[in-house]
Amino acid sequence: MTDTSKRLVLKFGGTSMGGPVRIAHSASIVAAEVRNARQVAVVVSAISGETDRLLTLAGELGGGLGEVETDTVLAAGEQVSAALMALALKREGLKARALLSWQLPIEVDGPPGGARITGINPALLQACVREGVIPVVAGYQGVTSEGRLATLGRGGTDLTAAAVAAALKAECDIYTDVDGVFTTDPRIVPEARRVARISHEEMLELAAMGAKVLQTRSVEYAKAKGVVLRVKSSFLDPGVSEGTEVVPAADIAERRVVSGVAYARDQARLSVYGLDPDSGQAADIFSALADAEVGVDMIVQARARSGEAVNLEFSVERKDLKRALSSVETEISRFSGTSLAHETGLAKVSVVGTGLRGRADVARTLYDVLRGHEIAVRMVATSEVKISALVEADLLEHAVRALHAAYGLDQA
Ligand code: ADP
Ligand code: ASP
Ligand code: MG
Repeated sequence: MTDTSKRLVLKFGGTSMGGPVRIAHSASIVAAEVRNARQVAVVVSAISGETDRLLTLAGELGGGLGEVETDTVLAAGEQVSAALMALALKREGLKARALLSWQLPIEVDGPPGGARITGINPALLQACVREGVIPVVAGYQGVTSEGRLATLGRGGTDLTAAAVAAALKAECDIYTDVDGVFTTDPRIVPEARRVARISHEEMLELAAMGAKVLQTRSVEYAKAKGVVLRVKSSFLDPGVSEGTEVVPAADIAERRVVSGVAYARDQARLSVYGLDPDSGQAADIFSALADAEVGVDMIVQARARSGEAVNLEFSVERKDLKRALSSVETEISRFSGTSLAHETGLAKVSVVGTGLRGRADVARTLYDVLRGHEIAVRMVATSEVKISALVEADLLEHAVRALHAAYGLDQA
């Protein structure tokens, strides 16, 4: 529940910052909270599309994601946004100040393009709030111990917001273009229902499986630091959005078997044929992939029909395919009788729910539903709380709709 005596961090995502009209509307939501006597801080994303534009620009000059200079290019998007939001707030008659990560500072560690927040100095934030000046923090970035800017991974402004909220002992409202967390992406399934309260565990799993409404690490951070996290729409009038609150599992009375259906586009499959099962070749391949910083997702290993050789199949994100292929090719060139194939144009659909634990029928339902809709399953992976299938990208939305209906998520 909203505690109006508490400080509040408001985060606005790319679409909520999508040009002067949207920024002005987002500023009016901040102004309404100030009128409600809340002490506020704001965290902003780059204008929608801007991070992709900057990434393409850097790429045209040889700068890929994960390079230090590329990160400095990408960080600029949120810096522009912070100053634009401060201007919009001033026009609302409020005092505001744009704050860049080196000014606080927000300390980060880890690789460019995927850094983690390790510390945040609250002094300047607290001073602003005390003096009635709204701090507007540029999201998605921090400063490394070498004094370089580093970005936090796509969707990382959610993490900045959770961290600023923790530093200020505030609650955190994440404003986006949908009115909360739904049983699946409402853009694909109009019948998807808003979930008023969702547990950290369920939200983490949905986010990890691709539901980008909240970045996975921001949920982990909020959970670890006890930050109250809500998702709301900035496309409604101030105070209208009901949204979703992310809460500890113990606070949810209603038990759901399945909490939602998530999806991730742009997946690829690699198949390595003819490995010797007794010589640790599979382990060598995975360690080469780890060295190349390729995240491997689903894995299937099966004995080949002929002889003793095994085949290994696994999926990676499309953006990592080139690196994956070259590291596997180098690795298997040492092993005789092996070969490599790959397939693109794939996507992953996942059914997520803490209530799936111990339910033996989950995989059967998934296979039955997808087969009934003539959707071929390329690979399946299960854990205690989810089941994922790799399908043809063209059939993804069809698969999401079919599974959403089959698990009764469209019914109240
Ligand atoms: P922002 O720019 O505000 O950070 P994002 O695009 O990162 O917004 O996240 C919001 C989007 O997440 C929505 O527009 C919606 O299409 C998508 N989405 C995917 N799964 C879900 C879900 N289960 N509930 C709500 N939105 C979802
Ligand atoms: N602008 C960054 C992105 O597009 C970070 C964010 O919006 O959260 O991923
Ligand atoms: Mg986002």
